[in-house]
Amino acid sequence: MTGRPSPPPLGVADALSREAIERWLRETDEGRLETLWTAADDARRRYVGDAVHLRGLVEVSNYCVRGCTYCGIRAANRGVERYRVSEDVVLDCARKAVEFGYGTLVIQAGEDYGITTEWMAGVLRRIRSQTTISAITLSLGERPDEDLAAWREAGADRYLLRFETSDDELYRRVHPDLPGRVSDRMRILRRLQGLGYEAGTGIMVGIPGQSHASIADDIDLFRGMDMDMIGIGPYLPHPATPLGQEFARRVAEGDWPEDQAPNSELMTCKVLALTRLARPDANLPATTALSLVNRAGGRVHGLQRGGNVVMPNLTPVEERERYEIYPEKAAVHETAEAINESIQQLLRSLGRTAGAGAGGRGEV
Ligand code: SAM
Repeated sequence: MTGRPSPPPLGVADALSREAIERWLRETDEGRLETLWTAADDARRRYVGDAVHLRGLVEVSNYCVRGCTYCGIRAANRGVERYRVSEDVVLDCARKAVEFGYGTLVIQAGEDYGITTEWMAGVLRRIRSQTTISAITLSLGERPDEDLAAWREAGADRYLLRFETSDDELYRRVHPDLPGRVSDRMRILRRLQGLGYEAGTGIMVGIPGQSHASIADDIDLFRGMDMDMIGIGPYLPHPATPLGQEFARRVAEGDWPEDQAPNSELMTCKVLALTRLARPDANLPATTALSLVNRAGGRVHGLQRGGNVVMPNLTPVEERERYEIYPEKAAVHETAEAINESIQQLLRSLGRTAGAGAGGRGEV
């Protein structure tokens, strides 16, 4: 026994107070953590079932106007060879998603105004008229309301926009405003819901300067937000970014802020499991970033500790290599077919099934 107060019993989401969440985030006892994993897995099974929804991802552009200090495709990174895919490539990915039985196509990019309102609307209309994909998700950054409205009208169903951290000062530090435009992701999320999108948000875990207390605030915030999806992944340091360089220096000097939360697999799983208990009916991915901190077991743990979604990458290999938001050495050279095969095999080994249909919130 550690002498510290134990977290309260689990099972009823409302029994988890903000303080209890913080205690769980600091928990190190493996036996007690087992009870957290079991409670999250039970809640996942009870509220969203055994189906794992597969969302095929296409990374349509690595241009970005932003200066996020964590992200490898930030505007100032001159080492990135930039690309935008053609309309036909997106269509091919949508067809592949249908062929593999994925219910959703996720279209992601840096915040790239070279992706015009009209271009994206045209792509959405073509996907709608030429494929049978059930749902389309966009993740294109902080676009103006007019773009969001036009894309909803053209056929987009969902939009992903992580608030990254609820610590305002930390957020401003790692996600600087653009000149004359204050970044207010909470406002955009409300706007998305007003437009009839299913909205998704999320955070990174273990950003330098992010405390356990601040992550407890994030989870408490998820509880009060009516989000359909919540993505949780570890922060992965990219050496060509200011934050990645700060991370390396801190590791070398052992210089961490007080109460720093680690960017580990374990911490990410705790956040995932507690989020499942706080928002039992949300769609929660076992993220690619989680699968990279523990290549052997990260995705399995994600699916066993609250996750019910996987996002297999469909981006053609040449572009995927250039969409380096964090260093990603595994899977980058694998084809969409190989990635699909390994995910299907993983689901079989876990006794889970691939979800049919759109896999929106509340669909089991
Ligand atoms: N531009 C859009 C946006 O900002 O929402 C979508 C693309 S952005 C690359 C998608 C997500 O990648 C971000 O919300 C962030 O959480 C995550 N990300 C970026 N860099 C990362 C890093 N170094 N480690 C972990 N996650 C990262």
